[in-house]
Amino acid sequence: MSQMSTEPDGIRPSLTRREDIPDEQWNDWRWHMRKRITNLDKAREWIRPTLLEERAIAETAGKYRWSVTPYYASLMDPYDPGCPVRQQAVPALGELLEFSGAEVDPVGDMYYRKTNRVVHKYPDRVIMLITEACPVYCRHCTRKFHTTDVDGTYFERSEGEDFSEDLRYIAGHPEIRDVLLTGGDPLSYRDGKLEEIIAGLRAIPSVEIIRIGSRFPVLLPQRITPDLCAMLARYHPVWLNTHFNHPKEITPEAERAVDRLLRHGIPVGNQTVLLRGINDEVDTMRRLMTELLRIRVRPYYLYHCDNVTGVSHFMTSIEKGWEIMEGLQGHITGFGVPQYVLTTRLGKIPIARPYHRETPDGLALRNYRGEEMLVDDSVCPLTESAAAHGFRHAPDVTENRTTATGEGAR
Ligand code: SF4
Repeated sequence: MSQMSTEPDGIRPSLTRREDIPDEQWNDWRWHMRKRITNLDKAREWIRPTLLEERAIAETAGKYRWSVTPYYASLMDPYDPGCPVRQQAVPALGELLEFSGAEVDPVGDMYYRKTNRVVHKYPDRVIMLITEACPVYCRHCTRKFHTTDVDGTYFERSEGEDFSEDLRYIAGHPEIRDVLLTGGDPLSYRDGKLEEIIAGLRAIPSVEIIRIGSRFPVLLPQRITPDLCAMLARYHPVWLNTHFNHPKEITPEAERAVDRLLRHGIPVGNQTVLLRGINDEVDTMRRLMTELLRIRVRPYYLYHCDNVTGVSHFMTSIEKGWEIMEGLQGHITGFGVPQYVLTTRLGKIPIARPYHRETPDGLALRNYRGEEMLVDDSVCPLTESAAAHGFRHAPDVTENRTTATGEGAR
């Protein structure tokens, strides 16, 4: 599959094409990791960089890491710097601008960190930041300080790959029933090391579910091998959340990777980040969510882009997020509508506009077309005391009733 297009004059320069690479190499994730783009010369094999991109690559070099897998590079439009895949992968000068309110750690990982790698923010669950490595260093990463900043990882590298203190903390807090492995991308580890960590968690009786946050299904789906899936399936329940941001990322390779995870009993959810110039249009977001459903990935969160140092140029307004959400709710299958959240030091806060408001006469409801109806105690008890005392009068089924009459209509 090639995204190769021709220039307006019809001339196609000799950029690398998918078809130039033997299947044996293309299907081997280690080959992609070895061949990652890390400098301008390698980038020129896949795209024709603009002068601004060239400057950004040079000026961000000492500050932020850069790497792109050939697979993800093959999805970039070679000529259009506005390509939604290209913008996520190629440095921009906006990363060096200072935005007011921007922070390196707006979600407070450092504040809630209990061991080198364990962040304990919610009562019954923790995240483990097990690596700073990723196949592609996404330009919009919320943990840019950890993954992409050249000097800025959260954890002590001196501890190497010893996870015993982290596992001891989790074992010592039996209220922790859910552990999310994240980073960086946990699947950057070879299978053996990853299994060691997961087996360590599974040996803790209070840990019920293990979740993995990984963008490999998007950035390098070839990593989702039968061996990896078989290993993960030995430690069920294991869940995986990935991070598709644009319908262009849903390729046959990505679909195969998701299918493989699902066939091994690993539910796959998706977290999208709302990004200016990439997916901040209703039509794009609708196509993304419906395509995710088609490949059986459940849209889970729509994150408002955090005001992270080096990322702020991707931020939209919350008003834009509301417009997107209103373009999804009611317009596509209900479980294809993600929850719109802002990640803060207080945790994730749902910020979608409500579809109801309280009035002196009852609850005013509006549907996805903006039509309103009033619901009062005669239709549906609004308070516990109304419920306890029954309806004040016999409901008039011809008025104020929703027309839903069965499961299919809900
Ligand atoms: S793969 Fe995830 S953790 Fe890594 S840079 Fe991209 S968004 Fe950040």
